[in-house]
Amino acid sequence: MTTEQNVLFTIFGGTGDLAKRKLYPSLYRLYKKGLLKEQFAVIGTARREWTDDYYREIVKETIKDLTISEEHAAEFASHFYYQSHNVNDSEHYVNLKELAEKLDVRYHINGNRLFYLAMSPNFFGTITQQLNEQGLVSDNGFNRLIIEKPFGHDYESASILNEQIREVFDESQIFRIDHYLGKEMVQNISTVRFANNMIESMWNNRYIDNIQITLSESLGVEERGGYYDKSGALRDMVQNHILQIVSLLAMEPPTKLKDKDIRNEKIKALRAVRLYKPEEVKDNFVRAQYGADSSKGTQLNHYQNEMNVADDSQTETFVAGKILIDTFRWKGVPFYIRTGKRLAEKGTQINVVFKNVPLNLFSEDVDEDLPPNVLSIYIQPTEGFSLQLNTKKAGIGLETDTLNLKHKHSAETVANSPEAYEKLIFDCLNGDATNFTHWDEVASSWKFVDVIRQTWDQDHSELPSYQSGSMGPAESDNLLAKDGFKWHWKPVNPDEEN
Ligand code: NAD
Repeated sequence: MTTEQNVLFTIFGGTGDLAKRKLYPSLYRLYKKGLLKEQFAVIGTARREWTDDYYREIVKETIKDLTISEEHAAEFASHFYYQSHNVNDSEHYVNLKELAEKLDVRYHINGNRLFYLAMSPNFFGTITQQLNEQGLVSDNGFNRLIIEKPFGHDYESASILNEQIREVFDESQIFRIDHYLGKEMVQNISTVRFANNMIESMWNNRYIDNIQITLSESLGVEERGGYYDKSGALRDMVQNHILQIVSLLAMEPPTKLKDKDIRNEKIKALRAVRLYKPEEVKDNFVRAQYGADSSKGTQLNHYQNEMNVADDSQTETFVAGKILIDTFRWKGVPFYIRTGKRLAEKGTQINVVFKNVPLNLFSEDVDEDLPPNVLSIYIQPTEGFSLQLNTKKAGIGLETDTLNLKHKHSAETVANSPEAYEKLIFDCLNGDATNFTHWDEVASSWKFVDVIRQTWDQDHSELPSYQSGSMGPAESDNLLAKDGFKWHWKPVNPDEEN
């Protein structure tokens, strides 16, 4: 844990949804824990004309469920200053600089600056350039830049964006957010692997049959149709969150648990992901859109009939795919991934499916498969693990039974564990980039995704639709079936735990 941090936050997009829902509450949580003390200030900027007082009222409103007392909330909010600002207007940066210098002195900040770009990525290049040209980047403390997703829409656009940012900030100063990396159980993957010999020694192609990653959402696109229709599940979820999880599962043990060591291993894992040739995409990736549904009493639209979605849209709301990693450790072990909207249940889980015992001594047919051992890592909303084992059914004879050893974090632990954004801001304050994506990770991920996207863009055949409330189209099951596998996580009834 750090000691007091002197820092000036400048939040671009300070009136936006992300700032209000995530950033202000996260800063307050850090303040409440004493991880931010008195020597910090926040400048919120956006186009609207707000006064400091009005801004502080908004900030207090966003933390009202967390506050210790009104005085404490007011004390926290007194560190917030508002500067109306159009990011395209160079003159506005002059005002911002004056305010930054004043606050630097008032709060004894010593030039430490953290710029948070909570805005559309279209502005990232302009903002970083102006920060430099108008002298907002300080020369006596640290300068760090946090940027939100999406980082480009393909490798080329991401490279251009990266070059613009790199003209001002070097890689060690850039903190690219992937909020999945702030999640407790994603961070736990390394502990489970590297603190348990029983697991890490079996973590390879001799013992593991396949690994499955599911990020499932139960809602449709809701009001985000306009954004989503340009993105789709592949860009929105696979390029970032899913490939990040793959890299944590697939990487070699780092020599130290330091950001550079971990990220080097993640980069190597992502570089080893096999890039498909266009003609291989169809066999390894499937896509679909959710269909209309009225089975639960309310009429749910087909994706193409959602607000702000083109009625001939070919954007996928579901993706399933097979990822291969060409390393000694993983050769021959498919990583199956799937993600989609309007699925049976909201949840993220990883299922590591182990190979069967060589001979089934418990059946007349020694070749008959026993249920596999499966290590499941529950990321959200449930946080925990389970291990599926075969045991003897109690009673006479030697019949086998499947047992699920489970650990779930208690509701209290989950409620008290820091929010992803809180952890990530804290890490950034400490200059710890472990849970942020390095450019080389972003680049490898886009190169993998681009082939799939470009192949799909040239294929004008009708997308299959899947039933809302299911776990996706039959094509997703077939993807595994043709390799002799099946999805382990099958939510049948949301009340029934898997
Ligand atoms: P938003 O539309 O709610 O907020 C955008 C902000 O940018 C507003 O404060 C607006 O005033 C400001 N802005 C727009 N044009 C401006 C200009 N020319 N000059 C100055 N300010 C301007 O968006 P959001 O949902 O807060 O998202 C911000 C970023 O965070 C996006 O990159 C988004 O993809 C990412 N993100 C958001 C969420 C979320 O939960 N909202 C989650 C993940 C990632």
